[in-house]
Amino acid sequence: MGLAIFTTPSELGHYLQSHRSQSLGFVPTMGALHVGHRSLIDRARRENTLAIVSIFVNPLQFGPNEDLDRYPRQLEIDRAMCETAGVDVLFLPTSESMGTKDLLTQVIPPPLMMSGLCGKTRPGHFQGVATIVTKLLNIIKPDRAYFGEKDAQQLAIIRKIVTDLNISVDVVGCPTLRADSGLAHSSRNQYLSSTGKAQAAVIYRSLKQAQALVASGETRASVILAAVMTELATVTEFQLEYLELVDPQTLQSIETIAKKALVAIAGRIENTRLIDNIIIVFDD
Ligand code: AMP
Repeated sequence: MGLAIFTTPSELGHYLQSHRSQSLGFVPTMGALHVGHRSLIDRARRENTLAIVSIFVNPLQFGPNEDLDRYPRQLEIDRAMCETAGVDVLFLPTSESMGTKDLLTQVIPPPLMMSGLCGKTRPGHFQGVATIVTKLLNIIKPDRAYFGEKDAQQLAIIRKIVTDLNISVDVVGCPTLRADSGLAHSSRNQYLSSTGKAQAAVIYRSLKQAQALVASGETRASVILAAVMTELATVTEFQLEYLELVDPQTLQSIETIAKKALVAIAGRIENTRLIDNIIIVFDD
């Protein structure tokens, strides 16, 4: 079976009607596909009989001064990648067919989950994500939907929405894929020069410091965060936006780690905004 491509919810819905006996694995993306996306796709294929990828550069999740217009768009390359990866269905909805140009009903995640981390500097972002992801889940009704742990706040918020709104889907969190330097793969890495990419490796290096400290028995957030800051400061070109240590599920700050903690960083290199995180498990 080749790659079937649809551009409107109704066409896709019609196709899926006749494939209801299959198990559906869904990977929502904004395109400019890389090996991180590929790992989600491979997992969706392994765990389901039909794999669906969507590419939609969602205007609702970009702020007025963000990179919506210059966000990398490479549809031909992405289509070929989906074909090679054995994707069954590629969904490429237009903004019109997703209704984003109209007055759209919005899904508002719990404000407390949006007040920290990326939510602080990106007001409206997670509401935009939540609205479009909910629409996609309603259109596709997948058995499983695959999201990267790289976007940890997004993953926690989507898990919460799916629980709170009784959406019938398994949300599968997938580990972050990285370059050899430790830099997390991201569509936005295309904006970076090779020097910038080398400098950006400091983000994961500093997250590993946090992990090493916890492995040695340290549980105080203040001590862990100070060590991460010291490492980050070794690359003066890195402009820190936030460094937080939070509960991975509720996203609320933790002072002492009891079991699991999410250490998350956002900042800029060469004016490109990058995010990364690590989940640390404390075993006493
Ligand atoms: P995006 O196209 O950036 O919206 O990403 C689509 C999905 O791929 C999201 O669930 C991301 O968390 C996930 N993703 C992005 N980068 C990576 C990565 N380096 N490793 C694993 N998953 C990723």
